[in-house]
Amino acid sequence: MRTSFLPFALPDIDNSELQQIKEALDSGWVTTGPKTKQFEAAFAAAVGARHAVAVNSCTAAMHLALEAIGLKAGDEVIVPTYTFAATAEVVRYFDARPVLVDVDPRCLNLDPDRVEAAITPHTRAIIPVHIAGLPAEMDAIADIAARHGLAIVEDAAHAFPTRYKGRLIGSPLPFTGQRSTVNGHHLVCFSFYATKTITTGEGGMLCTDDEALADRCRIMALHGISKDAWKRYTAEGSWYYEIVAPGFKYNMTDIAAGMGLAQLAKAEAMWRRRQEIARRYNAAFAGYPALELPHDRPDCQHAWHLYMLRLRPEHLPGLSDGSPQGAEDGVVRRRFIEELRKRQIGVSVHFIPLHLHPYYRETYGYRPSDFPVAYREYLREVSLPIYSRMSDQDVADVIEAVCDVATTFGG
Ligand SMILES: *Cc1c(COP(=O)(O)O)cnc(C)c1O
Repeated sequence: MRTSFLPFALPDIDNSELQQIKEALDSGWVTTGPKTKQFEAAFAAAVGARHAVAVNSCTAAMHLALEAIGLKAGDEVIVPTYTFAATAEVVRYFDARPVLVDVDPRCLNLDPDRVEAAITPHTRAIIPVHIAGLPAEMDAIADIAARHGLAIVEDAAHAFPTRYKGRLIGSPLPFTGQRSTVNGHHLVCFSFYATKTITTGEGGMLCTDDEALADRCRIMALHGISKDAWKRYTAEGSWYYEIVAPGFKYNMTDIAAGMGLAQLAKAEAMWRRRQEIARRYNAAFAGYPALELPHDRPDCQHAWHLYMLRLRPEHLPGLSDGSPQGAEDGVVRRRFIEELRKRQIGVSVHFIPLHLHPYYRETYGYRPSDFPVAYREYLREVSLPIYSRMSDQDVADVIEAVCDVATTFGG
């Protein structure tokens, strides 16, 4: 057994980040400046977006995206219940309503049929989330959006580098050229939070093909000040500016952008390492009836931000408390996690569905059974460590611990 605790997540940092950060500090541009512009251009090129706006979080990017599409109080936005707090809270910023929708039991992403059923005359947008780095069914979602004239704001916090049928998430949807039949609004929001596939400590990126939307987001990310406010401190800049709207303070710093440039340069190698770890886990766990492997698709590229294992509680009788409700209330999952912790393995749970949280229960009267798929899958989900800094020994230790618990407590 391990003698030291294996953290659930760790960033992959080396001298290249330090070098970039030093350059930012030496240049005097500690806030938004040339490195941020360079990071925006490099990220846009990496995902195939025409415009990329660097901000200080994915939450900020989603807030700006909804502002840019003109979301108003009383509007509705379709959000999967199986996601992190940020995806729905940004809708509440406008006093609009997040209409929660259940997910596909295999991939835990938005179920397109349920999206269609949740649309009302007040619906303005859909926010698909690419859980774990496996893409949502974007063809079907784009088709629904086109038919109902809805905007799409992708929560791509897990989705770099994710491919949907060959196309990288962040690139334009196939339909966005046909603005006559749809409003065509499409924005994609990435996260560079500490645990994500590339990190700037805190940070995010907003990608879109639409110049007007990108301009609006740039302006609103920096106090609603007329275009290129950051340039006022350069040689060609001017002291004069105009406030065109009451904006926000969401700009990325050059210190963070330097870190982002270094991370971007390693993104492919880090992704390959995570993919290798996922393959090793899959091979090791395949024979255990208690363990259900994460969903994957041959026609898409999984970013492997998370390795979402699912337990089959009926095959772990040793972890049940014997009550008929034992499997129902997640006791098997809770004890499974305790056993892994005893074996020095850090794990996590993704996600506690939004409709189970007090705020959403009390505000909208949701009950657990309203979204039965999300509720059932949440109760048996355990996320294992998957990050490029893991050594082969770390990976072997996770496999040994998981298989030991499955064998010891299995039926
Ligand atoms: C991390 C995360 C976010 C928020 O990202 P920040 O950059 O921390 O704002 C949004 N959605 C999902 C699904 C996430 O996991």
